[in-house]
Parts: sequence; structure tokens; C-alpha cells
Amino acid sequence: MRCGGAYCTAMGAIDSPYTMHNRPCITKRSPMRDPTRSLPRHFPCPCRSGEDDPLPYSACCQVWHRGLDEGVHAPTPEALMRSRYSAYSIGLIHYLLATWHPSTAPGELELSPVKWINLEVRNAQEAGDAGVVEFVARCRVNGRAQRMHEISTFVRQDGRWYYIEGQIINDKDDEKE
Ligand SMILES: [Zn+2]
Repeated sequence: MRCGGAYCTAMGAIDSPYTMHNRPCITKRSPMRDPTRSLPRHFPCPCRSGEDDPLPYSACCQVWHRGLDEGVHAPTPEALMRSRYSAYSIGLIHYLLATWHPSTAPGELELSPVKWINLEVRNAQEAGDAGVVEFVARCRVNGRAQRMHEISTFVRQDGRWYYIEGQIINDKDDEKE
């Protein structure tokens, strides 16, 4: 049986309904929806790339979201981090899983009802095949404003970047903002 879903393809498990984690194939369990279809044409990218004049989603993270199946991948840790933030914002679970390194990726992912408001990338570095991105993401959970300050690490493997893990920064000064 051939799956061919983005997640299984990324995990190299296209010939069976099971992923490397030996869990049922996510695309078999829940047929892939494309929430981006309902977005307006000039929808500003959730990652706010371009600051005061945000790029449209179609010219920003959608390039990587759409490119996944064609082998077109975010070229830098920051681009990948932004595209993952946008994927959280829009609800592209398959993209989040496919860009998560198999060594740390969950077998499946359920998104909590969070409304992501904006993203501020504070620092992004890459050295060889390792990357680090520090960012602050703001969101609303049940109407309450929250912020997440995280340092994420990335690795490049076979020419494409993967998210490994994030370290949450508890910064008291930040909470006063
Ligand atoms: Zn973007």
C-alpha cells in the first residue's frame, strides 16, 4: 500500500500505512484538509515578514507550505521557523509534522485552540548544518493574551532544514511588556 502523504513521504514511509514511529499514518487517519484554500488572495502572511508592510501569504510562507510535496523547502532556519509559525496559525498539521525532525517529532499532533497574533524573530543563526532561532510569539488563549519566548534549534539533513526542539525562556522583564 502506498501512502504518498506529505508526512509519510517526509518520513520515508511511503510504502506502508505506518510511519517510522510505528503509528498509523496520519494522512490515512485524517484525510488532509487544506485550510489555505479558504484564505483571501492577498491574505497577509501570519509570520509578518516584511514588518510594517507584511508580505502576502502567497509570496511568503505559502511557498514552503505548497512546496513540501514538490521538494521545495525553506532555505534557512528562520524561513522554516516562520513557516512553522504560519502553519500553527493556519492549522497545517501535516506541514508541522513533516518539518519536525524524526528524532523528536510526535507521531501525531493536535492543535489547541490558540489564536496566534504575531511573531517577532529576535535572532537567527546558522553554522554548517545547525541553526538556532530565537523568537517571541504572541497569542490569545480563551481571550487571554499570552506570549511565548523560545529558542528553537534546527538541523539540516539531506539539504533541508528540520525543527528539533525549543527551549522556553521565562523572562520576567518580558512579562511586563
Ligand atoms: Zn510568512
